[in-house]
Amino acid sequence: MSFVRGLKCRECNREYETQPIYVCEYCFGSLEVDYDYEGISKVISKEKIQAGPPSLWRYKELLPLDGEPTVGFTSGYTPLIKADNLAKVLGVKELYIKDDSACHPTLSFKDRVVAVALSKAKEFGFDTVACASTGNLANSVSSQAAWAGLKRYVFIPSDLELAKVIGSLVYEPNLVAVKGNYDEVNRLCAEIASKYNWAFVNINIRPFYAEGSKSFGYEIAEQLGWKTPKHVISPAAGGSLINKIWKSFKEFEKLGLVDAVDTKMYCAQAEGCSPISTMIMNKAEVMKPVKPHTIAKSLAIGNPADGYYAKDVCLGSGGGAQVASDQEIVDAIKLLASTEGVFTETAGGVTLACAKKLIEDGTIPKDESIVVCITGQGLKTQEAVQHHLAKPHVIDASLASFEERVDFPDKKVEAKA
Ligand SMILES: *Cc1c(COP(=O)(O)O)cnc(C)c1O
Repeated sequence: MSFVRGLKCRECNREYETQPIYVCEYCFGSLEVDYDYEGISKVISKEKIQAGPPSLWRYKELLPLDGEPTVGFTSGYTPLIKADNLAKVLGVKELYIKDDSACHPTLSFKDRVVAVALSKAKEFGFDTVACASTGNLANSVSSQAAWAGLKRYVFIPSDLELAKVIGSLVYEPNLVAVKGNYDEVNRLCAEIASKYNWAFVNINIRPFYAEGSKSFGYEIAEQLGWKTPKHVISPAAGGSLINKIWKSFKEFEKLGLVDAVDTKMYCAQAEGCSPISTMIMNKAEVMKPVKPHTIAKSLAIGNPADGYYAKDVCLGSGGGAQVASDQEIVDAIKLLASTEGVFTETAGGVTLACAKKLIEDGTIPKDESIVVCITGQGLKTQEAVQHHLAKPHVIDASLASFEERVDFPDKKVEAKA
């Protein structure tokens, strides 16, 4: 049974029947899924969610399908790690890492949105799915469409990290590398979507796809013992995830699953592509699109679709924003690895670096609960850290060579005869 009433324009509130569209034909505002929360409140409970599957489908009443899910049974329900080692370094009391870099088929939070998008595309009767991607979405669409037996067309900028290219190609999609940046790839895809009857997960399926990100927030609240944290630092590319985390908390509040939400949201972006963070930090009315230049390629969207909504969420919640330089991103990746044993990709480096700056400048108090959103896996962006790590000790296969070439404190040096 579905609790979806249809689609609703975020600007003019005009309502539409459920269909694969994403902009209001009257005001060009973006469309969002509209739910019957009354109906949901009658069937949902903490106990029922806890008895559900260990995936994002434990929240299926709050996700936009009409029938049962058909794709993405291993997406979601990733660990919330109490990061005590990192907390000590940062001098804070209660710090958590929501870790989507592991326990996911393609090792990023995009496996959540794709689970919903492809289940929905199948409901709509599409046999072909497609996407414009900065890398992780490409990996996830390629993988889950392979499993679901769907034809797949995946468009990426031609300068992506090798692991993100291989991590798509192995699933045999029609991979198209476009000579241009993400914004150019996306513009091309909008044109293709208007000509071919394909389910572009982040274009005509976008209202449904984006709802998948809410599961990231539901899990944070459930894993904290049905509580929302005081501070959440989220990375932003298009700005969808940060909006949906906030929405998930407010929905749980509306349904009585958590107390009144008192969470401050912070947007994290790379200095080399920070249209949203810059707008928030300057309290500017207008977002200035940029040409991205950063090692955080998964976040390199110069003209983010949900930028203004992200600003409303951050400023409206009493939070804010920060930016991180390439060097700070690398340092943060290494800090997370050496304290918590978690290897994140550049997006996670951005988020932790921004969190660190927000703590250090006193914006985030040291004695309140903090969640840092880690959204992707470091093995996919090895180029970023490759030249910033120690080299291995290369030795011959002998004890003598080991003792000669490697320095360590308890070495037993025999006296020469
Ligand atoms: C896509 C992506 C994001 C940001 O997603 P938006 O919803 O577009 O803001 C964050 N982290 C990683 C690793 C991503 O791939």
